[in-house]
Amino acid sequence: MLNIKIFGIVQGVGFRPFVSRVARANKIFGSVSNRGSYVEIFAQGSDDDLKNFLAALQTENPPRSTILKLDVNHLPDEKFSDFQIVDSVHEAGDIFVSPDIAVCEKCAAELFDPNDRRYLHPFINCTACGPRLTILKNMPYDRERTSMDEFPMCAACAEEYFNPSSRRFDAQPICCNDCGPEVYLIRNEELGIRNWEAIRHVRKILAGGGVAAIKGIGGFHLACDAKNFSAVQRLRDSKTRPSKPFAVMFKNISAVERECFLSDAEKNFLDSPQKPIVLLQKKIGGSIAVNVAPEINRLGVMLPYTPLHLLIFDFPDELKNFPDALIMTSGNPSGVPITIDDAEAEKIFDFCDAILSHDRKILLRADDSVMDFIDGRPSMIRRSRGYAPLPIFFDGAKKFSVLALGSELKNTFCLAKNNLLYASPYIGDVGDLRTVEVLEASIKRMSDLLEIVPEVIACDLHPRYRTTALAEKISAELGVELVKVQHHYAHILSCMAENNFGGEVIGVAFDGTGFGDDGTIWGGEFFICDTKTYERAAAIKSFVQAGGDKSSREGWRIALSLMKNFELARELNLADEKNLRGVQFMLEKNINCVRSTSVGRLFDAAAAILGVCKVSSYEGEAAMKLQACAERSTKIFRAEFKTSDEIFSEVLSRRLDGENIFDLAKLFHERLAEMTAGIVEELSARTKIKTVAMSGGVFQNSLLSSLTAEKLNRRGLKVLRHELIPPNDGGICLGQALNALQNFSTSGRRNFY
Ligand code: ZN
Ligand code: ZN
Ligand code: FE
Repeated sequence: MLNIKIFGIVQGVGFRPFVSRVARANKIFGSVSNRGSYVEIFAQGSDDDLKNFLAALQTENPPRSTILKLDVNHLPDEKFSDFQIVDSVHEAGDIFVSPDIAVCEKCAAELFDPNDRRYLHPFINCTACGPRLTILKNMPYDRERTSMDEFPMCAACAEEYFNPSSRRFDAQPICCNDCGPEVYLIRNEELGIRNWEAIRHVRKILAGGGVAAIKGIGGFHLACDAKNFSAVQRLRDSKTRPSKPFAVMFKNISAVERECFLSDAEKNFLDSPQKPIVLLQKKIGGSIAVNVAPEINRLGVMLPYTPLHLLIFDFPDELKNFPDALIMTSGNPSGVPITIDDAEAEKIFDFCDAILSHDRKILLRADDSVMDFIDGRPSMIRRSRGYAPLPIFFDGAKKFSVLALGSELKNTFCLAKNNLLYASPYIGDVGDLRTVEVLEASIKRMSDLLEIVPEVIACDLHPRYRTTALAEKISAELGVELVKVQHHYAHILSCMAENNFGGEVIGVAFDGTGFGDDGTIWGGEFFICDTKTYERAAAIKSFVQAGGDKSSREGWRIALSLMKNFELARELNLADEKNLRGVQFMLEKNINCVRSTSVGRLFDAAAAILGVCKVSSYEGEAAMKLQACAERSTKIFRAEFKTSDEIFSEVLSRRLDGENIFDLAKLFHERLAEMTAGIVEELSARTKIKTVAMSGGVFQNSLLSSLTAEKLNRRGLKVLRHELIPPNDGGICLGQALNALQNFSTSGRRNFY
């Protein structure tokens, strides 16, 4: 008899039913069980049958599963007369929690089949699809440990659940029109409108140009017709979100292709079981309203991923011409995590024409993941639903448990144990106290799920981050050590973690902001580092940021500081007289001023002098617009090394000479990439290090990232880049965790530098 242990994503993806099917097909007797961190099989049969069985396990495994390790041991035979799935037994170990999975094709077909007993059931799912992480209380993944425990299975569902030949065999969230959760409207005047009637009602509202809040898999969305300018404008005004782009959910791929360019790689991700938002190039003359993503040449696009989304687009009612593109934006008050419960929804979505909710509880929030493509490879911007909390593997990490609190903006946290680093779903900006509460609750839930009790806590170096305060609190409560990791070093470490690279690198961290070792703002950093320690080998020329928080939104302030010429700033109309004088005064008297090496701010300044964007209404706006301008230029520039301040001066003087702003936007990107490659080349010559890691929010800019990597490659350097972990602050937690793991010695004593 063989004892087989399979490690990997084998929970909640139909793995046990699959094993049972393959066993029967190969005349194997024995059993399979869920052990929490792995699946255990006892298999008895002829040598040939066992061989075939083992092969089938590894080649025919379900599409959503991933086998990371398979251990086989020989044991004496026992008396088995068939093959059984036995109840889950729980053991501690490395745990793999499945993310939520988009509705599969088979379920989608049944959803619209009038003869199916789940006809138009908004919660249809099977062993290959449906909610996972967001409904999970504890491991192992079994119905009574999910928020589906409130919905006892009807006889027909139970029959499928226990029948090995059914596609819903062992599907924990199984349900139907008779026994499943229900959708309903929650407003007073619409109370009692439930199920199909509620869906019809919301469709009518959306088709008529209204705005609706809709509860999904990981939180509420706000929705409206994406082709209806005034509906979109109403949503903008109510959310006080003047210009930050909205994501659009298209009914199907052909609707996407009508509006956007779509490569095969982009299509594969767009239509994957994770169904992320993918940033696509807009086609000219499309029908999506111009205020959906104003002045940006891209559109965040996704496909329906829950049965409810499919029903909203395609419910068989009398409504003809229902829009095939809807805004679907996270339903949250600005700066606060996505809403998951009815009471809060009713309070904050008072501007909506309807609020469609349901009674399947969301236990952990999961925003939509957002992905761009750079050089044909994915470049994650927000890693959440569909991806979190799948772990990153890092070879050779020490056997410890770590909790890393991440950064202040775009917060995610990381729980790590041994060589596995689990980054959480997206939490949000921790500037607001309500976000801190959600962060704390999410840490609690994830550590319960993954059974990780941290032995060391990691956080940012910034003394005033709320995440730092929370880390200090948790470390005091648990009586464990706290390690503070410099922000940009953590960016580089996150890139090394994602690439499973443990050697020495030259790290290039280009970022908006972050607390430096010397108390100034960093963000244009060149490090010589490994996973344990770093040296700041170079940085861009520092400049002065005047006016605190405002200086990170108002690029004209940086521009004035860099050009040191009040009359010229006035001539360029960078800001009104009063503001210009105010900042000039601060700069002269050194009031409310701080030194900075932020490349993010350099982008803001360049965008300001080119008149592309003087004040940003959302993070990264100036850089996105500058890139959009650069991509409209066809001019080729000869490579020339200049320092960052020389680059700014060149752009400024050519602008004063009246050169085209699209060309100058391109020149700015080109020069910055050349400067980076030049500095790295010099550092490489000095240190003999041939590997470069690029990270930091600025590298979300696909033009800069692509140009820089190309120039580095041409110099014979190996470039590590991000793909599925964001280069922005959403990836920081991984770097902090890696540093703590690497520096915690096995004797339990601290070994930090
Ligand atoms: Zn399915
Ligand atoms: Zn049922
Ligand atoms: Fe950062």
